[in-house]
Amino acid sequence: MKKALFAFLAALFLPAGFAHAQGKTDIYILGKDKGSVSSMQAGGVTLLDARATAKKLGGSVELYAAAKQIKVAFPGMYAILSAPLSEVIINAQTVKLPSEVIASGSKIYVPVQFFMLPQVQKALDRQITFEKGALVVEKNYTLAFTDKEQQKSYDRLRFFRKGNISFTTKQKNKHTVEALFPGAVLKRNASVRLKDDFVRSFSINQRGKDVLLKVILGKNAKNWRLMEENGELVFSVGSSLPAVSAAAPALEPNEAEELDLVGAPSIFADGEEMDTPVMRPAPQPVLKSGEPVLKEKRKLRIVIDPGHGGKDPGATRRGSSQEKVLNLTVSKHLYNYLKKQGFDVKLTRDNDTFVTLAGRSKMANEYKADLFVSVHTNAAKRAAANGFEVYFRSDKATDAEAAEVAAFENEALQYEEAHYSFVDMLLESMAKNEFMNESSKLAGHIRNYVYKEPGIGIAVRQNNAIRQANFYVLRGVKAPAVLVEMGYISSAKDRARLNNKAAQKRMGEGIGKGIVSYLKAEGKISK
Ligand SMILES: [Zn+2]
Repeated sequence: MKKALFAFLAALFLPAGFAHAQGKTDIYILGKDKGSVSSMQAGGVTLLDARATAKKLGGSVELYAAAKQIKVAFPGMYAILSAPLSEVIINAQTVKLPSEVIASGSKIYVPVQFFMLPQVQKALDRQITFEKGALVVEKNYTLAFTDKEQQKSYDRLRFFRKGNISFTTKQKNKHTVEALFPGAVLKRNASVRLKDDFVRSFSINQRGKDVLLKVILGKNAKNWRLMEENGELVFSVGSSLPAVSAAAPALEPNEAEELDLVGAPSIFADGEEMDTPVMRPAPQPVLKSGEPVLKEKRKLRIVIDPGHGGKDPGATRRGSSQEKVLNLTVSKHLYNYLKKQGFDVKLTRDNDTFVTLAGRSKMANEYKADLFVSVHTNAAKRAAANGFEVYFRSDKATDAEAAEVAAFENEALQYEEAHYSFVDMLLESMAKNEFMNESSKLAGHIRNYVYKEPGIGIAVRQNNAIRQANFYVLRGVKAPAVLVEMGYISSAKDRARLNNKAAQKRMGEGIGKGIVSYLKAEGKISK
């Protein structure tokens, strides 16, 4: 009784593919078995472990388990998947999936259809299908032999052809017909013997950028033609050929099932674009030197972000002010310097209060900042580590040490809910793409001016002072943004300078001069 009831319920609720999947989905890439990934079923949809699957497909992945979000990047595209949403962000556009992304344990599961999205297939230059419970990745072919048919008075060879692949045919000699498909990508080479009176054999091969079909005719091959018939490309050859219109064969070609899946899954065809409240940064007039200086309607706005604060002291060492205090002191000097230069300037905190990391970038965006500088003090276990560094954000850290610094600065996350909203994530990804280059330039100017500024007394290493790391506070800022590590509180030499009042003022001014120099170089202010 129990068993019967279970079977009944199972039949009712479990999708057909369940028996195949059983929590694992196989992945085949270019004909090779690449093992399996965790999967689950929900509402008739198969969901795959997003991280494992993306990695198998050669993507890079940032997993934010606490935020139930994952960022997947393939060449030329990225996607942000957030549980429990069915909307995915792909290159700053929203795309709807057939069901929600699901977070389970430390894994994020995404509907398998995500990997079949045209954007993903295009980025990977692969054809991706879900067949018989497996994810199948194949060459992005435009031509494939699908089927042969041998009749009494003729033979037919059928081909799948995608898009506008053209061809030319010619009778090479009495026994040989060739068709050339310029620019076609063949699914796989094939060589088939029919050994009848119409076709002895044929072969289809990729020849560099073209595909060549070669048919060896039999003794009764009186007529032949290659043409589109009922949506397929058909080579017909025989003693008498069937009329074109009446020739629709009732038989489905063997691979029809597979080929039906080619292209965009229809489920997305009517996927609605979500209305995302995205605020793009106001375009900045960029002037090249020599061009007349445009009169800005408003002053440029600079946000200075003194790192840490309140319950988060940042780096600490005996014999020194806490990092949060040093950061604020120098930030105030920087503030005064930039004010004097005529900018609108805002501090994310001007006293010893706690501000979340997300709150800082949000503040900058609401202020419509043109530039963002986060001010920090470094620390290392290695007492010898010293020097000034300026970071801009990228997914890749310059080296393990830079990644460590980022991890440390990101630790403030523990004080807040490690969660960015859907929109925050969208803004983040946009910001990074748009401003990474500018941020790296800004970093260069700041490095140069801190180096030139006398009296600071902290080493600025030309080769090593500009670094890349994935800082949370720089994510989402819709402006060129850098994070300055003024020096190492763990280095006795740096510590003395960091706590020196004159050096603090110089540090603020050095950073300020770098900012001004950058804005001039970029034509954002007059020289
Ligand atoms: Zn810090």
